[in-house]
Amino acid sequence: MARTPIPLIDPYARLVKDLRISITDRCNFRCTYCMPEEGMKWIGREELLSFEELARIASVCVERYAFDAIRITGGEPLVRAHVVRLIEMLAVLGVDLAMTTNGVKLPEVAHDLARAGLSRVNISLDSLRRETFLALTRRDELDRVLAGIDAAIEAGLKPVKINAVVMRSINDDEIVDLARFARDKGVGMRFIEFMPLDADSMWSHDKVVPAREILDRINDVFPLKTVAIPGSGHTQPAERFEYADGNGDVGVIASVTEPFCDNCDRVRITAEGKFRTCLFALNEFDLRAELRTGAGLDAPDLDDRLATVIVSAVGTKWAGHRIGQVNFIRPDRSMSQIGG
Ligand code: SAM
Ligand code: SF4
Repeated sequence: MARTPIPLIDPYARLVKDLRISITDRCNFRCTYCMPEEGMKWIGREELLSFEELARIASVCVERYAFDAIRITGGEPLVRAHVVRLIEMLAVLGVDLAMTTNGVKLPEVAHDLARAGLSRVNISLDSLRRETFLALTRRDELDRVLAGIDAAIEAGLKPVKINAVVMRSINDDEIVDLARFARDKGVGMRFIEFMPLDADSMWSHDKVVPAREILDRINDVFPLKTVAIPGSGHTQPAERFEYADGNGDVGVIASVTEPFCDNCDRVRITAEGKFRTCLFALNEFDLRAELRTGAGLDAPDLDDRLATVIVSAVGTKWAGHRIGQVNFIRPDRSMSQIGG
């Protein structure tokens, strides 16, 4: 008999219902704010969770605890072989299924992803200038990412949103151009504050462009309504504002200057099966050990054991990260290793 899902509540009375799954730590880009050019230590093939293992964790979250959203990320999720198969396996869970990608492989796979059941996609694009794009990603692939955005639109993935990490003196002069680009394409635009999760430790406070400044710069050219769209910001990380001319909206993710931890509903699994309750968490819970002991996926008590680890991990979810405060401790993993 199917169980009735029960809500998973953390110690600060927040409902946990959004699962981020990293499916690889590898990437075909080397964004300066995320990975070093060389010298990354990759997770071994054997250590990576299989699609069956990932789907098993996802089904426990959805069927026992009523999670309603799953996002596939990485590393770059589209470099993992047969990713379309994983989307098919997760689509049967019937939740909002999204992906964050650098977009470079979308021209080849966007249609297959949509057919497999992916609902929507966020595509990272930090610059529209070839040289800046190359300097930031260390890859000369701007044209293919632009083609990837078009492919996602054509495939019917909805909504398509663009994510841009804003860094002072690097790409902050493109805020308005990126906003214009998204308005013209009819896609969403999200500006993300630069967070201290880069592998090269180049992060510093003075490189962060506060979300309020980003909005002010857009408002000077494309006036925004003064009040945020209800439900945004406090129930999701992006605080969204409509353009006064009715031509869409723009969002800002103020992880550093205005953290949204009070309403965080997320947990994460790394590509090797570590369960994390925050991007900045300092401890992890090993789901792979449960998946691979005894009879493995055939073990009759596997779901119960996974559920026990998940519940005890959620019991440690903290009130919030402390970026900018003296007691902030940087996690020893970068964004690509945790899964952004
Ligand atoms: N490779 C995919 C991509 O780039 O979209 C997915 C993984 S990436 C780690 C997920 C998101 O994290 C991207 O939008 C990326 O721009 C963002 N990101 C990476 N490092 C970041 C940092 N230090 N601060 C803020 N955002 C960051
Ligand atoms: Fe790769 Fe995404 Fe990190 Fe860039 S941000 S290096 S695309 S994982």
